[in-house]
Amino acid sequence: MITDKKIALVTGASRGIGLAIAKRLSQANYFVVGTATTPEGVNRVCNLLDNQNGIGLLLNVNDKIEMEKTIKEFITNNGKISVLVNNAGVVRDNLFLRMREKDWDEVMQTNLKSIFLLSKLIVPGMVSMRFGRIVNISSVSGFLGTAGQANYASTKAAMVAFSKSLANELGSRNITVNCVAPGFIETDLTANINDQVKLEYLKNIPLRRYGKAEEVAGVVNFLIGEDASYITGTTIHVNGGIYM
Ligand code: NAP
Repeated sequence: MITDKKIALVTGASRGIGLAIAKRLSQANYFVVGTATTPEGVNRVCNLLDNQNGIGLLLNVNDKIEMEKTIKEFITNNGKISVLVNNAGVVRDNLFLRMREKDWDEVMQTNLKSIFLLSKLIVPGMVSMRFGRIVNISSVSGFLGTAGQANYASTKAAMVAFSKSLANELGSRNITVNCVAPGFIETDLTANINDQVKLEYLKNIPLRRYGKAEEVAGVVNFLIGEDASYITGTTIHVNGGIYM
């Protein structure tokens, strides 16, 4: 046993929103397992969590066989996972007429199929504990149907329906399943958007600023905590009011 704290697994914890979530949950006294796809990312997570409050774990959500091996091994050696935050995600933006099938498939695989596969590995343990908290990181894009994001928006909308189905199926086992849908948050994911588009976007945000990763992390922390024990199957929007 690595810890007697509740274990929280956060995918894509090497940077951006995932890193902020890992930090916040470790401060809230969870033992955080933060995943990254590279050894450098794993080191970053380890340094942040200093082994007291968690560890970094090498995990590519697109590698089904390796993921199965890693998660099963982790659970056998360290105990069941109480909290799952499906945060890892990618964009491969393009207008529909130019979007390649490869970009469609990659986004479907990384953003959507991965949460099916990972939940399959972790939910049985939650069922046997009669406790579980799952938070899936969706996006405002799934609600607005942002131009240039037909692939990404589809995955983010589907995550919401997936979460509701699981919430229905797992509620009787004291497992809650919710989504957080961020708007424009300043991370690597949004860093390459051109300034003109960014300014246009800003005009439509009632709070007139972009969001911070920590503002998403706080809501995830709320959803897995005692104060949210009667909340399941819902989505909390963290978007400065751009979608209400
Ligand atoms: P980011 O800075 O680009 O970070 C993405 C994270 O996902 C990284 O940790 C990356 O790991 C991980 N990842 C990518 N492909 C992976 C794979 N195949 N297997 C495992 N991990 C993988 O993005 P972010 O802005 O923090 O976004 C985090 C989540 O929030 C995403 O689901 C995104 O769709 C959602 N979101 C973001 C915004 C925004 O404005 N930023 C808005 C709405 C929703 P490596 O570093 O190891 O590659």
